[in-house]
Amino acid sequence: EKLRISTDRALEKGTPFDLELRFVTAKSNKKWVRIIGRTKSLDKNNKVYGIVQDISTIKAYEASLIVAKQKAEKANRSKSEFLANMSHELRTPLNAIIGFSEMMEQQLLGPIGTEKYLDYISGIRESGTHLLDLISDILDMSKIEAGKYELDLEDLNISKSVQLALHMMEGRAHEAGVKLSLDNQLAESLKIRADRRAVLQILLNILSNAVKFTEEGGEVRIHCKDRSDYIVITISDTGIGIPANKLPQVTRPFEQVSASYSRDHEGSGLGLAITKELVQMHDGNLSIESTVGVGTTVSVRLSKVL
Ligand code: ADP
Repeated sequence: EKLRISTDRALEKGTPFDLELRFVTAKSNKKWVRIIGRTKSLDKNNKVYGIVQDISTIKAYEASLIVAKQKAEKANRSKSEFLANMSHELRTPLNAIIGFSEMMEQQLLGPIGTEKYLDYISGIRESGTHLLDLISDILDMSKIEAGKYELDLEDLNISKSVQLALHMMEGRAHEAGVKLSLDNQLAESLKIRADRRAVLQILLNILSNAVKFTEEGGEVRIHCKDRSDYIVITISDTGIGIPANKLPQVTRPFEQVSASYSRDHEGSGLGLAITKELVQMHDGNLSIESTVGVGTTVSVRLSKVL
């Protein structure tokens, strides 16, 4: 029927056609054919010229690819869901390890006899905290991938969030010998529709990278722009920079620019991927500019509540 309509139209209007048809052969085999046809413009003989190609194998291959893709997507979803659901199970024991080692470090219930043990306890606490950070990143990424990261939106005073993030990073910047400063402040009355925790996470992730990848004596600056319907928060550092050809990959999960960096700058390689996803969940935009040896500038653009 399809073929008849197409040939009729071809004869009437001279329009060529390209069809894929399925049929069952006399021996009950299911077949796919592709029929390409056209007429000569002034064909008096009412003839359609064309080719018929058996595409059954291609079709079968296509179908198996679709099934394989669906299977892979399902497996990936199950993995993300599994990890997202593990959140509680992984964090609870780790928090116990961290909490008890802090108590012991401070010798809250009495002195620890052997000095060396105090070192070990600090080691346990630091490793525990580091592990908790990694797990938190993996869980956040899984939640985002499983579509389970839910934003708790409010009209947020973004100026306050920026100041809080700055405040929270001051200690680390000081330890690293990096100068951390805020160029200008946004108006207190300026509000964005956003999730408070996610915005803080976005700012802290970018700031901690900026401090982490800047040498002693370097500088990290936060600059805010207030435009008619959006704001831009820019965090620039005078750090090691990211090679241009590596820029696209730093916002992809588990990617770190150089294995040698990750030795002294431990991280999950998820921070920027999570940050980008979180910004996009807010209908915002994250962009990175960088020059090796000069520094990196990360800008986050978010819509204002008007
Ligand atoms: P990580 O956990 O490794 O910090 P991120 O996703 O936060 O993971 O960053 C990915 C990689 O991008 C980092 O390992 C680093 O190589 C590079 N990077 C991110 N921010 C900066 C920066 N401000 N300066 C230089 N390199 C950076």
